[in-house]
Amino acid sequence: MAHMWFGDLVTMKWWDDLWLNESFAEWACYWCEAEATEYTDARTGFANARKQTGYRADQLPSTHPIAADNVDLHAVEVNFDMITYAKGASVLKQLVAWVGPDAFVEGIRQYFKDHAFGNTEFSDLLVALEKASGRELSSWAEEWLQTAGVNTLAPVFELDADGSYSSFSVAQTAHADWPTLRRHRLGIGLYDEVDGRLVRRDYLEVDVEGASTPVAELVGRTQPALLLLNDEDHAYAKIRLDERSLATVIAGLSKLDDSLARALVWGAARGHDPRRRDGHHRLGPPRAGQHRVRDRRPGRHPDPDDGRDRHRPLQRPRAARGAQGRVGARDPSADA
Ligand SMILES: [Zn+2]
Repeated sequence: MAHMWFGDLVTMKWWDDLWLNESFAEWACYWCEAEATEYTDARTGFANARKQTGYRADQLPSTHPIAADNVDLHAVEVNFDMITYAKGASVLKQLVAWVGPDAFVEGIRQYFKDHAFGNTEFSDLLVALEKASGRELSSWAEEWLQTAGVNTLAPVFELDADGSYSSFSVAQTAHADWPTLRRHRLGIGLYDEVDGRLVRRDYLEVDVEGASTPVAELVGRTQPALLLLNDEDHAYAKIRLDERSLATVIAGLSKLDDSLARALVWGAARGHDPRRRDGHHRLGPPRAGQHRVRDRRPGRHPDPDDGRDRHRPLQRPRAARGAQGRVGARDPSADA
């Protein structure tokens, strides 16, 4: 149904803006599900499944900017992937938080009105969103749509003798291959242990920019049992937990009742597990028999396929072999 608007009513002019159709449809389906149906926790599914898929695709060598330079149809086929769908929808969720949900809806209404039954480029949408929100968006779009990679956000703070923050900032880093630091609209949740449950005491939203963003609003507040950057999941970034928060969730993730917060904490905590390779490891000490020893000595990292198949050109499958060629199909009398 989302494609009736994002794709059918207004269609992108060229494949560079494919995400105007696909990311929007993806984002809109979760948004509608959460806002207009009984499935109000739909965003937990988005965080657990879709967003993780985007983070993963964005950390592979095959990643590319969302608004790809699709010079021809061959390039389109290469770039039609989970960056377009899953990362695109996640970045859109961040854009909604960045301009504010009301301004976003007002902007896309105008965009549909102005371009109904026509073709657009991303700049057409930006114009509508800038007008509705009053926020300058072209440099935002450059950071988010024309560069690849995912940033990591971590809390950096000092504590008073009484256990409250005497300083607090959000540190942002990027992988060396994709060094862009971006602007983020970031939710921060403070959870305390109350009667055996983790209960949110405070929630605030801040704009994060550059390598370090001081958060004055947190100075003077008591350090919570769990501090969750990217609470509410507006940001597209890898999140780090401080030591106390990590200890809190290792001791009892199940004390968190909110399913979205639990998904976010779980995702962040996995990033701290030094044994993590494939996301299936559990937090805490391994159970008996769970250890698999792998050869990780330097210089002994054999290529998983020894390069055997990697460069072989695609070939048409061979014609099915006749029964003669198959093991076990020999004439049994021959052995007699
Ligand atoms: Zn689609």
